[in-house]
Amino acid sequence: MWQFENLARIYNINWGTGGDDGAMYFFHCWGCGTLVPTQTSQPLLRVYCAECKETVPQKLDEDRRLYSEVRARLMLDRALSILERQDAHMYEYREPAQVIAEKIAGDPGAFDSAHEMIAAMELVRNSVRAKIHPSVGSYRPDFLLPAKKVVLEVDGYMHKHSKLRDSDRDIKMRRKLGPEWEVVRIPTKYIEQNAKMLVKAIDELAAYKRKARKQHSGIVPAWYSDRDAEFWEDVLYGKR
Ligand SMILES: [Zn+2]
Repeated sequence: MWQFENLARIYNINWGTGGDDGAMYFFHCWGCGTLVPTQTSQPLLRVYCAECKETVPQKLDEDRRLYSEVRARLMLDRALSILERQDAHMYEYREPAQVIAEKIAGDPGAFDSAHEMIAAMELVRNSVRAKIHPSVGSYRPDFLLPAKKVVLEVDGYMHKHSKLRDSDRDIKMRRKLGPEWEVVRIPTKYIEQNAKMLVKAIDELAAYKRKARKQHSGIVPAWYSDRDAEFWEDVLYGKR
């Protein structure tokens, strides 16, 4: 093969063996550049030598791990910046932030967003124990608060899932967890504006849903949702 090593600097050298037409072609390893014999003259995939076939995926895995770590750390910084914009007493969040930093050091994918991190810090700050992304049947809600019997979801803007009425998902999760559980959805908009009211809002919203359910034989009537906007304004701006 040594004599072809030099010759094969010209691509597509015919080695005379292999391939459908009995030809062998040489291509530079995509990783390190050494010449690799192939049986096709037009590779549709990148060609790698035996060594790179092993090391390239390892390096990619390492890069993915580094990327998710950096991403999680930047997410935490963003979460703290959001808190700084809402007149939060930042030193109340120092310990909670350390708890989150520790969590993401071991599990960089633990949180999906800065808003989830803020919610987690609020829960820590208020000593509310929570499970993050637990399995509930086939669902993975954001948080489970066992002491409050609340499933907490941190949602995008007030889309339909932010409504108070039960979605299919809520019904299935409550079936798994038990009728005393409530699913509480907090729109990210409010976490962005007034995070320190989160735990109070969870309590009020869960109580509100439980009361509605009691009055309406176990379901939260759809028209309760019409009160959403008002409800949120009241709870999150301290009017309740
Ligand atoms: Zn190589």
